[in-house]
Amino acid sequence: MSVESLKYLLVGVLVFGYLVRKTLGYLNVKNPIPRVPDTLSEYLSYSKLQESKAYQRENFLFKFIAGTFSFLITLLFITQGWFGAIDTWVGEFGFQPLLKSLVFFGIVFVGSDILSLPFDYYATFVIEEKYGFNKTTVKTFFSDKIKGYLLSILVGGGLLLVFLWLIHQMGKDFWWQFWLVAIVFMVLVNLFYTAWILPLFNKLTPLADGELKHKIMHYAKSVKFPLDNIFVMDGSKRSSKANAFFSGFGRRKKVVLYDTLLEQHPPDELVAVLAHEIGHYKKKHIVWGMLAAVLQVGLMLFLLAQFIFSENMSFALGGKAWSAELNIIGFTMLFAPISMILGIGMNWLSRKNEFEADAFAKQTFEGKPLAEALKTLSVKTLSNINPHPWYVFVNYSHPPLLERLERLEK
Ligand SMILES: [Zn+2]
Repeated sequence: MSVESLKYLLVGVLVFGYLVRKTLGYLNVKNPIPRVPDTLSEYLSYSKLQESKAYQRENFLFKFIAGTFSFLITLLFITQGWFGAIDTWVGEFGFQPLLKSLVFFGIVFVGSDILSLPFDYYATFVIEEKYGFNKTTVKTFFSDKIKGYLLSILVGGGLLLVFLWLIHQMGKDFWWQFWLVAIVFMVLVNLFYTAWILPLFNKLTPLADGELKHKIMHYAKSVKFPLDNIFVMDGSKRSSKANAFFSGFGRRKKVVLYDTLLEQHPPDELVAVLAHEIGHYKKKHIVWGMLAAVLQVGLMLFLLAQFIFSENMSFALGGKAWSAELNIIGFTMLFAPISMILGIGMNWLSRKNEFEADAFAKQTFEGKPLAEALKTLSVKTLSNINPHPWYVFVNYSHPPLLERLERLEK
């Protein structure tokens, strides 16, 4: 493909992605406020519904501004050849190719992070604050940022180094070699996330003995699910929004419950939430999800390998010679629509799995407390009870509340 047409293709793909995202967001926010459904009448008042709509409108507007800003900056970088200009400038220092690539990515990473910082700050301290969700302090916000940076440099930088080294040394074969590295890395993260990464940001304490623990153990035993690692995490340090999750597999699996979840739900609802999570395990969703992610990474690397040694992409981004880093940037942009389509498939699968996990909880425990837990969670987080179907189709990893309730309460 010629340099000119590649440039048009990059711009086309960027504009297309932007328009699709914004159109879906607009349709979603324009959906009218419904009347309060019967099943939610004890949980939700009309004024709460209006508040939730206001929250969604504000988030839409915010994302519209932030997204448009980043879209315009990227557009400028492509049309003006600024990626190439930075690459040429870094090249003038006479680094060896590997180091040059690393320095380039360092600059792009820091630059984009600085540009997005004011937006992150606003989302946390203005929007989330206004609706009573934010519990984080400015100090925690910045210390999170710094820890995040260090982690990115150590882990992300290390991976990037291996990736670039393979590209520079191994030619086209780099794709399957790095794929193996990525698979090992993904498994390690899954195994050690709660042990190594999570404690950098949060405090985890084993769940204390008592009624809840007793009920959980009793249930776990009834479905033959060995469970000896239940932790409570201080989620309230950052947000009043609640959550629960599993991590690890085999003998290393752990359950993490947010302290905010424990505060808001009676024991039966918590056991039901856990039963849902155990359902994901029993139905092998975790293993299949992991496999799908591995295949996706493999596909991406394979496609990248077909394309990374072409000179024209480097020229299209304003470079003066072939450059691995420019081609990686170009590829990430061209891959975006493919990634969107894969994402739609993954979300569809994930929504199906959510129904299955709900059904598992209903069969092995009870549907009612799970339905009640979902209602409380949804109302407390001001989530959207009538999202636009297209928006759901593209973006939702979980089915909308009312669809889940319908099946649970049937
Ligand atoms: Zn789930």
